[in-house]
Amino acid sequence: MTDRVVLATRNEHKIIELRRILQSAGLAVDLVGTEEFPDLPEVAETGTTFAANALLKARDVASRTGLVAIADDSGLSVDALNGMPGILSARWAGRHGDDNANLSLLLAQLADVPTQRRSAAFHCAAAVATPEGDERVVEGVLEGSIVEQPRGENGFGYDPIFAPSGYALTTAQLTPDEKDAISHRGKAFRALVPVLADLLGDRSNADRSPRRE
Ligand code: IMP
Repeated sequence: MTDRVVLATRNEHKIIELRRILQSAGLAVDLVGTEEFPDLPEVAETGTTFAANALLKARDVASRTGLVAIADDSGLSVDALNGMPGILSARWAGRHGDDNANLSLLLAQLADVPTQRRSAAFHCAAAVATPEGDERVVEGVLEGSIVEQPRGENGFGYDPIFAPSGYALTTAQLTPDEKDAISHRGKAFRALVPVLADLLGDRSNADRSPRRE
């Protein structure tokens, strides 16, 4: 029987990306998003690291749905800002998810920082948790630098001002497939596949083993 696994997101792009990665790895999983569970509350991201926040979300969704749950948390770390915005990436300018304000504030903060000191990296932690309390977390990183002016229409968030190392283009100028192939999230999701396979294997073995009285 195919295992049902829930990805703790309402973002259809993330669901499609992870489905494609699972499929190409040959792992048969019925992956659904949290829109299948309209009563699930938002989980407060109170952790101090990407990994802690991903685990908080995966754990909460696993315990509320009774399904194996995956969650990711990501953001941009800028060296000249001591690693910030980091876990505050989505609300750097104050309002959650205001991509333009976040990006403009970051560019203003780096106005006097020369090209050679504009290094940055996208980070993604992907966590998986079972309703029985097993959990694992993996991470993916995309190194690069912050360009002077926004370029490109694809992607979201800080994509128009981030150029991966070795690329003249920003991630907003790459196609979605090109970005997925090198991205922090793509790397974390690909690293998650064997971990998820292990956890699902352990659970089905536990189901089949005789119960001790
Ligand atoms: P989330 O954890 O995926 O919701 O991402 C948190 C925030 O990090 C987003 O709101 C973006 O500002 C930033 N971010 C994460 N991944 C990316 C990316 O691939 N491109 C651009 N910005 C990103």
